Amino acid sequence: MLHIVEQHFPESEEIPIDTIAIKEAVRKLCERNACGYYGKNWACPPALPALDEMKAAFARYQRFALVYRVYPVKSSWDLEGMMTAIKDFGDRLAAMRDDLPPDLDHMLLGAGSCLLCPSCSYVDGEVCRRPDDMIVSLEACGIDVISLMKVNDLPYYAGPNTVTYIGGLAFNPKS
Ligand code: SF4
Repeated sequence: MLHIVEQHFPESEEIPIDTIAIKEAVRKLCERNACGYYGKNWACPPALPALDEMKAAFARYQRFALVYRVYPVKSSWDLEGMMTAIKDFGDRLAAMRDDLPPDLDHMLLGAGSCLLCPSCSYVDGEVCRRPDDMIVSLEACGIDVISLMKVNDLPYYAGPNTVTYIGGLAFNPKS
């Protein structure tokens, strides 16, 4: 199974799932709305379940493959470059999901808000158009991604003019 992950994300590592800490403080950061998606996207708070539900969802899984990818950008203000990069990251996650065994018990996590539609239906008070395709970010689950990388000895910062996006796959091995 991990070979499928590696095909899509050469930079991947299985990490102990108990190193994933879900913290209210991370959710609180979302409320500051630095990204502009708080309250505007089904894949972001407050549309998402409370963190107790997130913890219960993670507790169902035994293993976790963390995936990450470093992208070059022109500068730390290169929003267009960052959007192109995060779109590629989401496309890779979706392609990986398509290749997973259909009966694999899993939960896929990504980075950032859901960008599948030009405008998210959340702002119109309508249901998500593609709930089966939507991928929620690690951060929106209350996970401090930088700490998670550090505690697992993985690189988060790849140097100036780069951006690193991180996601993961929680899964139960097939018996
Ligand atoms: S699939 Fe569309 S409607 Fe659903 S969360 Fe993503 S952008 Fe919003």
